[in-house]
Formats: sequence, C-alpha cells, structure tokens
Amino acid sequence: MREINKLISQMESLGLESWAERLETQVDSALSVEANAKTPEWQKVVSELPVLEAAEIELKDAVRVASAVGVDETQQEELKQQLKALMPWRKGPYELHGVTIDTEWRSDFKWQRLIKAIKPLEGRVILDVGCGNGYHGWRMLGEGAELVIGVDPSPLFYMQFNAVKHFIGDKNIFLLPVGIEAVPDNLQAFDSVFSMGVLYHRRSPIDHLYQLRQCLKPGGQLILETLVIEGDERQVLLPEDRYAQMRNVWFLPSSKAMLLWLQR
Ligand code: SAH
Repeated sequence: MREINKLISQMESLGLESWAERLETQVDSALSVEANAKTPEWQKVVSELPVLEAAEIELKDAVRVASAVGVDETQQEELKQQLKALMPWRKGPYELHGVTIDTEWRSDFKWQRLIKAIKPLEGRVILDVGCGNGYHGWRMLGEGAELVIGVDPSPLFYMQFNAVKHFIGDKNIFLLPVGIEAVPDNLQAFDSVFSMGVLYHRRSPIDHLYQLRQCLKPGGQLILETLVIEGDERQVLLPEDRYAQMRNVWFLPSSKAMLLWLQR
C-alpha cells in the first residue's frame, strides 16, 4: 500500500476524517514542480537509494541502522554521495549503513534534555509541528509512541525523511510536506503535540498556541520549545532585524511571559 494510503486509513480510525480527505491534495500540491522546481531531482535521489538489509535498528538512544550485509567502502562512498545530494542536512545525526550524517544541529542533545521532562511517550499518538526532517519523530518511536505524524512545509526535509525511512523501513511514522496551516481546526486527536523551534518564527504566536491546543485531546500534553529572554511577565523582545543570525524571528518572550501566554 502507498504510504499516504496507510496514513489515510489510520487517520480515519482516529477520527481525523476531516484531514484524511484533504491529505492527497495537500501533499500533491506541496510536491509539485510549481511549489519547488527541485523536488523531482530530490525524488529521483531517494528512488535510486540502494536496498540494503539492516541487522539492527536503533531508535531509542540514537537513529542508527546497522548493516547486515557488510557494506564495503565503495558502496559506502556511493551512499554518501547520494545522501549529499540532499544537503543541507540541518537536523540529525543519523547513521545509515556506516555512513554518518553529521548535521549542523545536534538534535540528539535537545532530545536528551527534553525526554526526562515530558510525559512518557509509550502508546501515544503524536503530532510534531515543524518537525524538520523528522529526527525527533524517530526518537519518539524509540520511546514507544504508537503513531507519529510530522508536518513541515519544506519539500527537501520531506525527501530527507523518506531517505531515512527507506533504510529504517516500515514504521508508524509519517511526515507531511505541509505547514500547520494545513492541519484542520479543532482535531482534538493527539496525546502529545510538539512544537519545537517554531513559535519564534510565527508572526502570530498566540494563534499558533490556539492551533496547537486544538490538536490536543483533552488531557493531552503540549511540548513547546522556543527561545526566551531574561525578564518578568511583561518582557517580550521583538528583534529589529536578524536574531542569532536568523531571519524571520518575531516574538521572544521571557519564560514568565510565555507562561502567561499559555495561561491566557
Ligand atoms: N522541530 C525541529 C525543527 C525546528 S526548525 C527541531 O526542534 O529541531 C523550524 C522548522 O519549522 C523548520 O523545519 C521549518 O521548515 C518549519 N516551519 C516553517 N514554517 C512552518 C509552518 N508554517 N508550519 C510548520 N512548520 C513550519
């Protein structure tokens, strides 16, 4: 069965019909040449990845596929070049058949700090908003999550995810190349909703919080990670221009202001 059909049937059983029925249109338009001229090129790279047997798949302490077949140096070099064609790999690291994708950001460090502070993910249905190439989603499965759906509007990150999924194989994780705007209102379907590194990119952070809350089941947990400044509940920084070399940074509240936003 095609990946998208697998997801559609799961969505239907979770009461997510309103999303399931729009899904194919959303994905088709996100992956169209009009949306990004490079998509077919990336898609070709993913479709040409070699089929290699895995001896062991580690998702709990890292994202690693150990090879069963003993991939030789030439094959490794070839694989490395293929994966390089999907650069920049911002989030990771990944280890696939002896090839390490040593990424710009160490998403594993964030995960190690975070996992101790949140409700256990065992058996949970999870939405990861702004999931990048899906790194944390794999770690969520490593913690026993039942289903992970990630949304991120970058078609390149979607292709990176598919490259990793090609080697890890059939698991209950799906990435959709769409933004949070594509998530229908008021789903109330997820046990845990993650929004990490996204809020400060939103021009309307309060609307973002409303959207996230609507995705949660009653009693579900929001895991929100964002940049904060020092200060009391009245302090919020709106940078004049770039912040930490990033364009597109809007509101940086203090932790106390952030709590107030959440309470409101
Ligand atoms: N959650 C990951 C990635 C954070 S980077 C982590 O913690 O490492 C922020 C991500 O938000 C980027 O991958 C970007 O593509 C994505 N993003 C940008 N606009 C978005 C939108 N409208 N909806 C969802 N994600 C968005």
